[in-house]
Amino acid sequence: MEAKHDVLVVGAGCAGMRAAIEAHDAGAEVALISKIHPVRSHSGAAEGGINAALGNASEDSPEEHAFDTVKGSDYLGDQDAIEILCNEAPGDVYQLEHWGAVFSRTEDGRIAQRPFGAAGEPRTAYAADITGHVLVHVLYEQVMKRDLRVYEEFFVWKLVEHEGRCQGVIAWNLLDGGLTTIGAKTVILATGGAGRLYTGTTNAYACTGDGMAQALQLGIALKDMEMMQFHPTTLAPTGVLITEGCRGEGAYLLNSEGDRFLKNYAPNAMELASRDVISRAEQTEIDEGRGVDGNVLLDMRHLGAEKILERLHGTRELSMVFAGVDPIHEPIPVRPGAHYHMGGVDTDVWGRTTLEGLYAAGECACVSVHGANRLGGNALMETITFGKRAGAHAAEWALTHTTVEVPASAETDAERELQQLLDRSDGERPWSIRNELAETMHENFGVFRREEQMQRQGDIVAGLRERFRHVVVEDKGHVFNNDLTQALELEFLLDLAACMIPAGIERKESRGAHARPHDFPDRDDENYMRHTLVRWVDGAPKLEWKPVTMTKWQPMERKY
Ligand SMILES: Cc1cc2nc3c(=O)[nH]c(=O)nc-3n(C[C@H](O)[C@H](O)[C@H](O)COP(=O)(O)OP(=O)(O)OC[C@H]3O[C@@H](n4cnc5c(N)ncnc54)[C@H](O)[C@@H]3O)c2cc1C
Repeated sequence: MEAKHDVLVVGAGCAGMRAAIEAHDAGAEVALISKIHPVRSHSGAAEGGINAALGNASEDSPEEHAFDTVKGSDYLGDQDAIEILCNEAPGDVYQLEHWGAVFSRTEDGRIAQRPFGAAGEPRTAYAADITGHVLVHVLYEQVMKRDLRVYEEFFVWKLVEHEGRCQGVIAWNLLDGGLTTIGAKTVILATGGAGRLYTGTTNAYACTGDGMAQALQLGIALKDMEMMQFHPTTLAPTGVLITEGCRGEGAYLLNSEGDRFLKNYAPNAMELASRDVISRAEQTEIDEGRGVDGNVLLDMRHLGAEKILERLHGTRELSMVFAGVDPIHEPIPVRPGAHYHMGGVDTDVWGRTTLEGLYAAGECACVSVHGANRLGGNALMETITFGKRAGAHAAEWALTHTTVEVPASAETDAERELQQLLDRSDGERPWSIRNELAETMHENFGVFRREEQMQRQGDIVAGLRERFRHVVVEDKGHVFNNDLTQALELEFLLDLAACMIPAGIERKESRGAHARPHDFPDRDDENYMRHTLVRWVDGAPKLEWKPVTMTKWQPMERKY
């Protein structure tokens, strides 16, 4: 075994770094491990901002934030977790500010806040349109200040369970090759989302759901996996995100006839309706022939050059570089793209999973604060608040337990399995399976879902999983063997897809991101105001249900 730690955090995005800082400050000895350098984590791509009821732009309160979040979640969010998020958010944002986060400012010097979709007040604190970049760097400075050990460019492949506890990880050293076992009293998964399940996605190549799949392999349940959020403004053709901040600043969405078509779908909220509503509206316009080359148009021209340059500078750059469009002069072609996984590893409000010693936080976890539809700005807040809480709890547990033991067989078994994969000389390359998975998920498990398409996707995924058994890794080398790691990531993605489909088929209603307009167009609170839980049992996904926690908000019809 390479080393032993009190707390080992897998993933060094906002959730992982915030968890590590908290665990260290609580007195634990902490290490982070990440397959990419911490500041390249996908949190750095977050643009629009982070939600907290600071009340700097209007009267606001954590209670109002919580109500918006409950409603936005289409009543699938757990209200106890939502209340914690919204109550702790202001303090957590000021903590980030005191660490040096350069938020944009009001005239009188307070943290500026902009309107975001489905939020009753302008609540989204931001650093222009590079909020994630700023937060990742501030957190990394704090990690360096504390001199925490960071295993950079180590790919965690398996979690180690021993005597009913998670006691470490087995990782592939990307730089030098070879497997390494790292023991830990507690392990926190903070491995981010799985947008790479889809072709059109805002997510980076690294977002392959590794931690979720690793937890699944240990028999831990994944919650609400059918709930993949489609963001309404992703740039054609790459899927690069155009932030909701544009609509927050007043941008319009137009169809090919130049109409602000949202007046037909969300006449009150218009461009500030929630993401599920706008994605469905756009897809309907495109499907009914009122799109422009498979897109709709995001028009910011009326905002004027000065505002665009000051507040949406990064968006302008992205549009010019990736679509050849300058939004000061032309509308941007956009369409819905896979963006955020509301589902993930089932945890309690301290990030605890059902396996002692294993925690999860951030996008890979499902606490659940987002339910069936996440509000823009709430994901970054979740990474910070629940990263902090998981770090605190994991440290407390580690400081009251002494032993770490990883049986030698864990590593030898893993070595044998890896060698078998590397020894195979004939077979299919991983990329063709990966492309087929992403294209068919987009086609059959996208914005709108039909029973027969979901069934077909189940068969397709089963076929791809079979083909994966014969996959060949052509690169047999040890240094930065991306061929190998992409094959391992593909296996994770296939496992997750296999969990999403039965959950989608069995949720016979339309709620948030799960829209079945053809057979079950309405929300059915009586039967489905419940979380799906999928476990891996005897080589196949097994579906169960879990009640939603309600504190004070009864479900109401959503009005837009
Ligand atoms: C383009 C874009 C813009 C967004 N904008 C906003 C916004 O404005 N506001 C908002 O609230 N939310 C936004 N979101 C969502 C939000 O940014 C993410 O949900 C959040 O940052 C995820 O953080 P995380 O720490 O959970 O994961 P990540 O930041 O993705 O970090 C995952 C970490 O896990 C590591 N990792 C993964 N697998 C392994 C493995 N096998 N071994 C070792 N390490 C591993 C990675 O190296 C990385 O360090 C946006 C998302 C996208 C895609």
